[in-house]
Amino acid sequence: KGQKCPDSADNLRAQYARITAEEAARFQSFDAFPLSRRTIDGLRDAGFTKPTDIQRQTIYLSITGNDVVGAAKTGSGKTLALLIPVLECLWKNKWSRDDGLGALIITPTRELAVQIFQVLNQIGAHHDFSAGVLIGGTDVAFEKKRLATVNIVIATPGRLLQHMDENETFSCDLCQILVVDEADRILDMGFTRQINSIIENLPRERQTLLFSATQTRNVKDLARICTNDPLFVSVHEHA
Ligand code: ADP
Ligand code: MG
Repeated sequence: KGQKCPDSADNLRAQYARITAEEAARFQSFDAFPLSRRTIDGLRDAGFTKPTDIQRQTIYLSITGNDVVGAAKTGSGKTLALLIPVLECLWKNKWSRDDGLGALIITPTRELAVQIFQVLNQIGAHHDFSAGVLIGGTDVAFEKKRLATVNIVIATPGRLLQHMDENETFSCDLCQILVVDEADRILDMGFTRQINSIIENLPRERQTLLFSATQTRNVKDLARICTNDPLFVSVHEHA
């Protein structure tokens, strides 16, 4: 692997270790997080300066390597809460375009996948990762060809499983981080079997983030299957 900014990566690791949970409350701006310069620049260019509650409460935990199960209502900013840790995870692992699939983001619908992809393209613009969507409705052969060079995949469950089952060149063996977005909706839409099969195809040594609007019994059951010793964060509206 290339030696991209090894010094700054090591400095960051030391910084993470010094930060306590109480200090997380102090993260009133994205600059205050120990993020890579590339991510800070991407957020700034996209016009994001101040984290929302779910971002403030989960990003610190996620970038320090924990599995996190986060719940916050629609519109609260869960996309950045999941994308920032994805970028930081691959960056800390010195991931490069040649390293293949490093991050997998599962979301229930094509529309949500495309939305996440667009935000990723904005805030990830200063990184050198490739990203793609697997959402069906497009040519499987085309997706298959692109997949060979994609570092971050954003997928709907059915289509992802189709590639896992039918595409012998698609490997998730190196996947560093799994994100399940809108876990409650994924379960409501009847994708439980697909999610279970997908997880079986992933390496056990990985980080997992799971986000939903509500922390239902079903979401907790799913969390038990796909996360390891997770931290639960639930952000409620202030009435
Ligand atoms: P959720 O996934 O929780 O439904 P989104 O991630 O889609 O929410 O974000 C909802 C809206 O809030 C989007 O328009 C997004 O651009 C905006 N947003 C998210 N985080 C921030 C932030 N830190 N500062 C300003 N706007 C934000
Ligand atoms: Mg969302």
